[in-house]
Amino acid sequence: MPPNTRDDEIRQPSVPTMDRMGKRRWLYPDRRKGANASKRKTTAFGLIVFYLVAPWLQWNGTPLLRFDVIEKKGFLFGQILHLSDAALIAPVLAAFALLLFFATSIKGRIWCSYGCPQTVFVEWLIRPIEELTEGSAHHRRRMDAGPLTILRMTRKAIKHILFLVVSSIVANTFLSFFFGPARIATWMVSPPQEHPVAFLVMSAVMLGFYLDLAWFREQFCAFLCPYARFQSVIIDHDTPTVVYDSVRGDPRGQARKSAVAPEKKFGDCIDCQLCVRVCPTGIDIRNGLQLECIMCARCIDACDMVMTNLGRPKALIKIASQNEISGQMRVPFWKRPKTLAYGAALVLMTSAGLVRVLSRNALDVTILRAPGAPYTQMPDGRFGNLFIIHATNNTAQPILLNFKIKSPDGAELLCAQCQVKIEATNDLRVSAVIMFEQKLANKVITILNSSTGDEATSVLIGPN
Ligand code: SF4
Ligand code: SF4
Repeated sequence: MPPNTRDDEIRQPSVPTMDRMGKRRWLYPDRRKGANASKRKTTAFGLIVFYLVAPWLQWNGTPLLRFDVIEKKGFLFGQILHLSDAALIAPVLAAFALLLFFATSIKGRIWCSYGCPQTVFVEWLIRPIEELTEGSAHHRRRMDAGPLTILRMTRKAIKHILFLVVSSIVANTFLSFFFGPARIATWMVSPPQEHPVAFLVMSAVMLGFYLDLAWFREQFCAFLCPYARFQSVIIDHDTPTVVYDSVRGDPRGQARKSAVAPEKKFGDCIDCQLCVRVCPTGIDIRNGLQLECIMCARCIDACDMVMTNLGRPKALIKIASQNEISGQMRVPFWKRPKTLAYGAALVLMTSAGLVRVLSRNALDVTILRAPGAPYTQMPDGRFGNLFIIHATNNTAQPILLNFKIKSPDGAELLCAQCQVKIEATNDLRVSAVIMFEQKLANKVITILNSSTGDEATSVLIGPN
């Protein structure tokens, strides 16, 4: 990859990670200490630990969070979700999306800056590895612009080996949310020929993470992340964002130049470009709010440091709403219609999910009519209907099944598997024939599981 100079970085093309010819501009963001960096660092390490251990956590004997694609069921904070649970899954997914919208409307891109795994892993694992193996941003830029020496190749090789290790851990943790950590661990230690499809999936996911973390990086936020695309419709002029105080900062220039041109008045921005050099997405926040800004506040820390060195007040770049910057009062969130609408929809969806959870049976029973002839006549003159009884265990304990006919009187249940145990979180389909006399045709049949009291109904079909 052709290296770019510091001047290239500071010059702003339309897309910060591309030059004017459409080629990738590699960014070398400087790192500066500061209050915001400290807060983010603490949160990030807590989240890295959480992301890595979450697949192993249990809640009431079931995984805390898993969407098991092999068993075709999900586990969410003690709730067991089957494919038939669309009425529960839909409000839960909608509530998560609305929570994100609501939080963004009040606090801006707080998810991007603090919670997003992409940002957390790139900023707090990948970039530190890069600094450890290749040095500071300044050194890396110089090294990439220089000849390909043995030392440079060695450093790059060590860096990429470490990236592969991180990518492997991240990929297998990610897959654990879909296959379970025990299954992933078994696949990892057994020969690939024993599980070729799983091996291919694991390799492809690991390669995907490696390419993203080692190469694609900040471009993911700008080009691929759907959440970034929603920003312009979620936020308004009262949403806090990272802003440059142009009233105070402009016109920009060197502070000491005022001695050379005393008649010219400068604002507080000395145009040192440090805020641009630290930006992990390569933008100049002084150009206004941009889609690429992930609200990481690195530019705030950098500019605060410059202002402190100059003996000027901090917060030339700060977190504020557009209205605050233009001198207007900030409207509190409970008076903003868009935020209230997100809040109301969030309450509605959460309530719908809770109602569904609280009204859920431990055992769901349905009767499905088996394909084929609607009825058959038996040698004794009675008629028979073939049904499939579908039982779903929504708990983490086994449940005893003991199906009987509750009504109508005179119908008989023939079923080899109607007294069995259904294992925790499982579902079971059993075939059952119901025998009845002609007078019961078109009557509603009710099947009862006598051990739990759950029942299901259908209709007996016979000759009219
Ligand atoms: S770091 Fe502050 S002073 Fe330097 S260019 Fe950015 S806004 Fe101006
Ligand atoms: S402009 Fe500032 S807050 Fe936005 S991404 Fe760049 S450094 Fe982070």
